[in-house]
Amino acid sequence: MTTPSGANWSVADSAALYGIDQWGEGNFTISATGEVNISIPFASGRVEVPVIDIIRQSRDRDHHLPLLLRIENLLDTRISEINQTFQQAIRKFSYTGNYHGVFPVKVNQQRTIIEEISRFGEKFGHGLEAGSKAELLLSLATLNDSGLLICNGKKDRDFIDLGLWANKLGHRCFFVIESPIELPLIIQRSRELGIRPLIGLRIKISAKVGGLWTETSGDRSSFGLNTPQLIATVDALQQADMLDSLQLLHCHLGSQIPDLAEIKAAVREASRFYADLVAEHVPLQYLDLGGGLAVDYVGNQSLHSHSRNYTIDDYCCGIVETIKQTLAPHKVKHPEIITESGRATVAHTSILLFDILNVMRYEAITLPDHCPANCHPLITQQYQLYKHAPTIDLSTGYTAALTNRDMIREGFRDGSIRLRERAVAENLFLAILHTLSKRIDQLADIPPSLAGLKSSLADIYYGNFSVFQSLPDSWAIGQMFPIMPIQRLDEYPDRNASISDLTCDCDGKLDRFILSGGESRTLPVHQLNSGEDYILGSFLMGAYQETLGDLHNLFGATNVINIRINRDGGFDILEEQSGDTIAEVLAMLEYQPSSFYKGFRDKIEFAVKQKAISVAQRQQILKQFSDQLQGQTYFKT
Ligand code: PLP
Repeated sequence: MTTPSGANWSVADSAALYGIDQWGEGNFTISATGEVNISIPFASGRVEVPVIDIIRQSRDRDHHLPLLLRIENLLDTRISEINQTFQQAIRKFSYTGNYHGVFPVKVNQQRTIIEEISRFGEKFGHGLEAGSKAELLLSLATLNDSGLLICNGKKDRDFIDLGLWANKLGHRCFFVIESPIELPLIIQRSRELGIRPLIGLRIKISAKVGGLWTETSGDRSSFGLNTPQLIATVDALQQADMLDSLQLLHCHLGSQIPDLAEIKAAVREASRFYADLVAEHVPLQYLDLGGGLAVDYVGNQSLHSHSRNYTIDDYCCGIVETIKQTLAPHKVKHPEIITESGRATVAHTSILLFDILNVMRYEAITLPDHCPANCHPLITQQYQLYKHAPTIDLSTGYTAALTNRDMIREGFRDGSIRLRERAVAENLFLAILHTLSKRIDQLADIPPSLAGLKSSLADIYYGNFSVFQSLPDSWAIGQMFPIMPIQRLDEYPDRNASISDLTCDCDGKLDRFILSGGESRTLPVHQLNSGEDYILGSFLMGAYQETLGDLHNLFGATNVINIRINRDGGFDILEEQSGDTIAEVLAMLEYQPSSFYKGFRDKIEFAVKQKAISVAQRQQILKQFSDQLQGQTYFKT
């Protein structure tokens, strides 16, 4: 079978290449005209909205690229899916407890996200998990009446007081104790305020899980009580006459766990803790299994650290069945199950959209028709290689071209090769590699000696975004997100590129991509058409990225819009938020833009006095300075 290319390329080929049907899980499709659509199911049928239409409408409102697009329907879909799938599993296994979902606020603290989880989640009793005082405050202000409030993290007196008052206000607010030193203050404040606390104990289980966050589990995890500490804490609660407060057992296994067998092993161990504590008359009611439900970023349901070898249904059934089976010999009442799925709840909601500003190509600019006269013997050698590149043995040709290139550069450094000769030689080198690369395309398998050839010729596409601000996990922990063009998918993407961002940092790049054929160092892209935008989307961006992002090179938050797609095929723009202005970003770094402006004004007034600039020029420069302070940090096209 030949690989489709050029004239016979179709949108189905693009779908297969970028793997959108796999990682998109039906939420994203490609239209017959080659555009990425957001696809939302309604009782009356699916509604598909082209992402480019949303970008146009956003631009009309002065929100240009880069843009973070949040699709509220996709958030609701995930909340429903997690809750309903657990409910089905509970029915399937005749489990007698209920399920309670809790969203860990740290995964995406943005107001619109938390408000929607609270609003839409109310019918499922979906609650929130707070890990700091700020998260507790926002949870208290936002949480619906039916959801649980789980407090992890370190708790000082203010935190504890507020959590206790929350119970008076009708919330079920659990303090999860992660370290033995937290208990005395909780007991003291509870007595002083006369409010019984609700307490959970976070345990360290020995079962280790794989993936990128293995350190969250196991003996050396920095969170949770080891077994002796657990027993000592239970005894301390008993002595304080507060054992009735201890209603929850908590264990968080880690995030993005690829293997269901490991999740089940950990749940089995947690259930054994639960059973033996109940046997000791601890009045436990809830078993909180934390996060870990993975997102299939790769879309191949595998043990890859960015995938998972299970469906949501497998996950829910696996948990419910394992708890039931483990508790059966102990005749323990089935606990209420809590999970704190963050990533799996919000990842699908957001897409980062950015335009490509320009391209660097690794191609010969000009090539000589004959070997340049009187040139260095190494250049003659490279010229001969160039002539024989269509037929020479691939590995021999590649190695020889590299060796010649390196010797020519050495010759340039020691002065025996001139600058113009070096330029000719580098053009020849690139031409040789391109010829070899085209020949490699005809091979079924690429020999290991030629593995780096194609990526060394890839273009660099310069994107209007900052990796550090918008995809921090890709820089910090090598997280991959599905990235693809959002238009022209009916055209063959005949270029391969890595992507560089706007920062002046060599880490500000994307060079690991998810393609349906597996992982790739380059992304197939189209040539830029002059006068036309070329826009890429980075998908499944809703978890962890927004607040972890930083201001490297002072690129601030991007524009954001939240939309809801309607059954009539239209969409509403629910919220729009302009990205940070330069003045706002500078203010975060202790500058005061007003005095900043004054400093610049003094400088410019001095230049007028020195007659370096005219008064008219002064006016023009000052206006530009103050306009730019109010402008955004990204590239204006
Ligand atoms: N709960 C706790 C205590 C966590 O620390 C985390 C994140 O690491 C989560 C829940 C969310 O995990 P995930 O995003 O994998 O669902």
